[in-house]
Amino acid sequence: MRIGVDLDDVIAECAVPYLRRFAEEFHVELPPEPGWHTLDEISEVSQADKDRFRRRTYDGTFFGELEMYADAPAVLERLVAAGHEIYFVTARAERRRVVTETWLRDKGILDHAKAVHLRPQGDFSPTRTLGRYDPTGSARYKVRLAEELELQAFCEDDRLISQELGKRGIRVFLFDHPWNRDVEGPSIERVTGWGDVAQKLGI
Ligand SMILES: [Mg+2]
Repeated sequence: MRIGVDLDDVIAECAVPYLRRFAEEFHVELPPEPGWHTLDEISEVSQADKDRFRRRTYDGTFFGELEMYADAPAVLERLVAAGHEIYFVTARAERRRVVTETWLRDKGILDHAKAVHLRPQGDFSPTRTLGRYDPTGSARYKVRLAEELELQAFCEDDRLISQELGKRGIRVFLFDHPWNRDVEGPSIERVTGWGDVAQKLGI
């Protein structure tokens, strides 16, 4: 099977460390289950400050310091050994390729993938707000790539991306997070981690 694998909050824990930094910087308290949805709920920080924080954080050492989910490397290795093809597909911008590939190499999982795809600069809308997450554009990008690469399954956590991939009949392993609890669909299978993916694929 040709499997697309997202990075942030699928391979690496991303939202929680991001929110922790955010809370520290702006002296706000986080709810018990912080996640990407929390950002919208924090009204005491302006959208402009949120955008600036995101840009600054992503331009810094953040991506290079993320922790990988402990069971990810072993399962990826077993998937490859069982004949599956892995494609890392992230909506991170193409200019993050060096930090992204260096991190994947350091964690020992770069070689499990046939390719690493990041979102090309020309793929971003010129009218988008710099520094703000763009779910619609990211979904368009991942769907296009999934079709080009003829992916049959996709490991994802984003709400919109999962739904759009599912609509096209791609089997989605939706990594369970507080921000995607309401997402469901015929092609969408919720998983609590890599152990579940291994079980579902019989490896
Ligand atoms: Mg993600």
